[in-house]
Amino acid sequence: MQIRQIRNATIVLNYGGLTFLIDPYLGAKGAYPPVTNTANQVNNPTADLPISVEDIIQADAVIVTHLHPDHFDAAAVKALPKDANMIAQSDEDAEAIRNAGFRNVQALDRVAQLHDVRLTRTRGKHGTGKIGKLMGNVSGVVLSHPDEKTLYIAGDTIWCDDVEEAIRIHRPEVIVVNGGAAQFLQGDPITMGKEDICRTYSAAPQATIIVSHMEAVNHCILSRRELTGFIEEKGLAAHIFVPADGETIIR
Ligand SMILES: [Zn+2]
Repeated sequence: MQIRQIRNATIVLNYGGLTFLIDPYLGAKGAYPPVTNTANQVNNPTADLPISVEDIIQADAVIVTHLHPDHFDAAAVKALPKDANMIAQSDEDAEAIRNAGFRNVQALDRVAQLHDVRLTRTRGKHGTGKIGKLMGNVSGVVLSHPDEKTLYIAGDTIWCDDVEEAIRIHRPEVIVVNGGAAQFLQGDPITMGKEDICRTYSAAPQATIIVSHMEAVNHCILSRRELTGFIEEKGLAAHIFVPADGETIIR
């Protein structure tokens, strides 16, 4: 497989002969206001796209793990062809994407198989307590194929029993987690921080961990530099990768 980190949680994945676009967030740098009730009030996205939108949207299928605007934005709605093969986490999200004008939208649970690639929905928790509830439902996806390593894209989740279960059931050899330790002025992070990322590795020492969702939204306060330093300190640099925007990892 070939995984290209684009920006935030947007990745382009070549897997089992197909190209998947995950969580297209395609707005220009600074196009949107900062997330309310957060520190570091600068416009989003906080980084440029590393390649052109035209190059990003050439995909056989587009998977949207949830509908937060840093995963599926107005620019993506505008840029993606309306007959694109869209895969949502649920029937409810599929309906919302249809309402944005897309004609070919299915829920992940109902897709199951795309050519020889098997897709399985996983669950997650987008934070703890009241904030976690407010953030709503999120999903991840496990991809498998006879000639590929099993890949688990965890989505916007903190470390939790859902992630542990997905690792136990699917035994992924590659895991993409969303880092950044996104947070509001109150409460715990709503995406993984450095401890959560290392815990994920501990639960899946057979796997390569790839950290996405870094340095692109104003409330993601964990920097690549801080995370990389932590990973090196723990001696895990051979197992946990923090790609730059535009960087490709082959496994
Ligand atoms: Zn996010």
